[in-house]
Amino acid sequence: MNEFELIDRYFARPVPAGGLVRRGVGDDCALLDLGDRLLAVTTDLLLEGLHFLPGAEPETLGHKALAVNLSDLAAAGAAPRAFQLALALPRADEAWLEAFCRGLYALADAHGCVLAGGDTTGVPRLRAGEATVAGPVSICITALGDLPREAERTRGGARVGDDLWLSGTVGDARAALACRRGELSGLPAEALAAFEGRMDRPQPRVALGVALRGIATAAIDVSDGLLGDLKHILNRSRVGATLDWEQVPRSEALRRLPPALQRDFALAGGDDYELLFTAPADRRAQVKAAAAAAQVAVARIGAIVEPALGLAVRDAQGQRLDVHAGGFDHFAP
Ligand code: ADP
Ligand code: MG
Repeated sequence: MNEFELIDRYFARPVPAGGLVRRGVGDDCALLDLGDRLLAVTTDLLLEGLHFLPGAEPETLGHKALAVNLSDLAAAGAAPRAFQLALALPRADEAWLEAFCRGLYALADAHGCVLAGGDTTGVPRLRAGEATVAGPVSICITALGDLPREAERTRGGARVGDDLWLSGTVGDARAALACRRGELSGLPAEALAAFEGRMDRPQPRVALGVALRGIATAAIDVSDGLLGDLKHILNRSRVGATLDWEQVPRSEALRRLPPALQRDFALAGGDDYELLFTAPADRRAQVKAAAAAAQVAVARIGAIVEPALGLAVRDAQGQRLDVHAGGFDHFAP
C-alpha cells in the first residue's frame, strides 16, 4: 500500500452534502463553506530526520514550515489569514526557539497570516542500544485562507485543450539534497548556494495563486515532484497531458548539471513549491498578466489532452522520452 492508497482507503471518507465541508480529502486544501465565502484549510508536518536533518538551522525551519502550507493555499487561490502551530520538541532551547520564531513570523507577517493557536509537547528520548538519544522535532502547521466562492479552484478542473503552465523553476531543491547526501560534489560555491536557498527558503506563490483566480482551471503546488504532482491533476480531472521537457524552466545552476541529472531533478525531484496549473489556450495573455502582477515567471510547458493518451513527456524533436515519474511516496517499498 503506498501513501496515496493508504489515504484513499482509510481517510477519504464521503462528506455530507450541504454541510460545512464543501471539499474534503484529495486536494491541496479542504474547502469549508462559510456561506458567502470559502475558507481553505491545509495541514503539513515537518519531521526531523525526514524533512530536515538534525541540526538544521531553526530560522530556516520556521520559514519552511509555514511556507509549505502557504504553498497549498496558493494552489487553491486562497489568501492566507491565520495559522495554528503544533510543536513537539525534545527540549526547551531558547536560542532555537528564538531563531525558529524569527523565520516563522517574518513569513507570516509578510503575508498577513496570524498565529491563532496550536499545541506544544515534549518528545520522549528514544532508546538506542544501551544509550538514549533525543527524539525528533516535529513541526505541524495548519493554515487557513480566504477564498471568494466564485474563485473555487481544485486539481479537478483541467479540460482537454487547456495549456499546462509552471511557475518559477524546478529541480534546485533536489540538487541541494543530492549535494547534502554526497551524490553530487565539486560544484561551484554559487551553484551550491543557489540550490540550498531553494531547498531551505521556498517562496510560496501566494500572489500568483490569487492572481490566477478565474483564469486557471486547475492547480496544484509542486511538492512531491513535477510529474508525480501533474498526475494528481490528470487523475482528478480525468485527462491526459503532453509535457515538453525543453520548456520546463530550470535555473542557470541546474542547466550546468549533466542532462540526465537535470531531467531527474526537475521532473521527479520534489520540494520545489512552484505552482503547476492549467488554463484555457485563449487566456494566455491573462495568465501572463497575472504572472507579471505577481512578479513571478511562468512557462507554458505542455497541454492537456484526451485521457486515453495518458502522460507523454516529449523532447525538443517531439519524440517521447522514457522517464520514470517518481513522485515522493512515504510508504514506497
Ligand atoms: P499536499 O502534498 O498537497 O500537502 P498530500 O499529498 O499530503 O497533499 O495529501 C493528499 C490529500 O490527502 C490532501 O487532501 C490531504 O488533506 C489528505 N490527507 C493526507 N493525510 C491525511 C490524513 N491522515 N487524514 C485525512 N486526510 C489526509
Ligand atoms: Mg500541495
